[in-house]
Amino acid sequence: MTHDPNCIFCRIVKGELPAKRIHEDDEFIVFPDIHPAAPVHLLMVPKEHFATLADAQAKHEELLGRMLLLAPRLAREQGATNGYRVVINNGPDGGQEVYHLHVHVLGGARPWKRL
Ligand code: 5GP
Ligand code: ZN
Repeated sequence: MTHDPNCIFCRIVKGELPAKRIHEDDEFIVFPDIHPAAPVHLLMVPKEHFATLADAQAKHEELLGRMLLLAPRLAREQGATNGYRVVINNGPDGGQEVYHLHVHVLGGARPWKRL
């Protein structure tokens, strides 16, 4: 499995940096965003390092599907009972800051501009 020792999310996956793990399985972990943009703001982070959706491969199909399928339950359990957003930022124009693919789950309020 690919790791990048300079990547902040790889370091969280390895336990070198702290995060409150809300979920963990063989393929990914989930923890709260350190700067929440909504009352519920979770990050779903694969254990394997790959930067963006464009770097995902066929072998990641199940991982990506499993993350999306788990998002509703975690959102609800964390208090987003009236809906939530599921967001993957990609590249500079996508507003990506951490180049280790991750899924944002945002809910508990509606502060955003409607798409
Ligand atoms: P991006 O803009 O790359 O889609 O999102 C990166 C997210 O990671 C940001 O919302 C930021 O607040 C969050 N983040 C950055 N560093 C850390 C960290 O060390 N711990 C946690 N929990 N979240 C982080
Ligand atoms: Zn990484």
